[in-house]
Amino acid sequence: DTPLHELDPDVAAAVDAELRRQQSTLEMIASENFAPLAVMAAQGSVLTNKYAEGYPGRRYYGGCEHVDVVEQIAIDRVKGLFGAEHANVQPHSGAQANAAAMFALLKPGDTIMGLNLAHGGHLTHGMKINFSGKLYDVVAYHVDGESGQVDMAEVERQAKEARPKLIVAGWSAYPRQLDFAAFRRIADEVGAYLMVDMAHFAGLVAAGLHPNPVPHAHVVTTTTHKTLGGPRGGVILSTAELAKKINSAVFPGQQGGPLEHVIAAKAVAFKIAASEEFKERQARTLEGAKILAERLNSPDVAEAGVSVLSGGTDVHLVLVDLRHSELDGRQAEDRLHEVGITVNRNAVPNDPRPPMVTSGLRIGTPALATRGFTADDFREVADIIAETLKPAFGADSRDALAARVAALAAKHPLYPTLGA
Ligand code: PLP
Repeated sequence: DTPLHELDPDVAAAVDAELRRQQSTLEMIASENFAPLAVMAAQGSVLTNKYAEGYPGRRYYGGCEHVDVVEQIAIDRVKGLFGAEHANVQPHSGAQANAAAMFALLKPGDTIMGLNLAHGGHLTHGMKINFSGKLYDVVAYHVDGESGQVDMAEVERQAKEARPKLIVAGWSAYPRQLDFAAFRRIADEVGAYLMVDMAHFAGLVAAGLHPNPVPHAHVVTTTTHKTLGGPRGGVILSTAELAKKINSAVFPGQQGGPLEHVIAAKAVAFKIAASEEFKERQARTLEGAKILAERLNSPDVAEAGVSVLSGGTDVHLVLVDLRHSELDGRQAEDRLHEVGITVNRNAVPNDPRPPMVTSGLRIGTPALATRGFTADDFREVADIIAETLKPAFGADSRDALAARVAALAAKHPLYPTLGA
């Protein structure tokens, strides 16, 4: 038993149950991943005890000589990974990173542009009751109903009309790549900053398998726990020119003491992200998503009214369109849960169903790729999902499909050295 089991059996039992859930089911929430043990060891270290307001070499507390080393390693590694002139590794999360970046570049009442939430944008890109929608004047852009891709003509038209101070390019639910050069050209034409939120696809960028926004943007924000596979947290990258503004917006603008234990874990994750093994894993992530898109766009599922938005994917996720299916997003999510696959329901553009129900699913492959899934395994997963979404699904097929999920989970043990 661990000290946690001894001191607090209630919390320990819930943690153990969560470990078993992660081990026995297939995690396909596109924003999730499995942090390596080394990352979790850094995050669970004595660094959690240290106050370190300020930045390496310029702290407001004594005794920072070792956390200074850790934070500087994290900064240097993430700058190298993405080719950035400046990095701030202190944001506690992706939302905090976006809040600080906007705080650095904008004043309340300034106009921003971002992708509409229901079209794949994030809450922090201007959703009405988020800080971004309350503090700033928001002009949202959308995806084109036909192609399912961001309508760059609309972006340009709206930018010229609204003259925003900042344009956000980035997404939480979008299966294609954005044209960063086109966004920058538009931003330059109207005198706006370009901020790219690469939270979802940062791991693909690190692996060189997705265009890098850093050369195009004034500021790039990211989380460290999605495709990047590190601890939960955020990072801001910027030009050298904006370094001072960004740093003072994070601290003392938005945050107090940095989480140096999480920053240590970020440093470990950045080391891993520079490896060949990481690159190979990101390649399997992309391959898995392509296999999934192909299967969920095939004629037998089309008969059940199921298809894939934009017709495919260039990234780590697939958006399933259920507008013509008898299943709504919630029912489809529940059905997949019954066979042991975890996904989230997701609004599709111009969704006829309410936001708590939706007509779509977002399905991602990063966590399974981390678990070691190969193309063959992804073919099996894709077939299980396709069969689960068909009208013939019932009590008999459910047990057989659940058994196929269990076999895949057993084939790729997760955290085998942690208790079962
Ligand atoms: N930015 C994007 C594009 C995201 O998808 C998310 C999370 O889903 C965030 C920011 C926010 O990250 P966090 O949940 O760490 O605040």
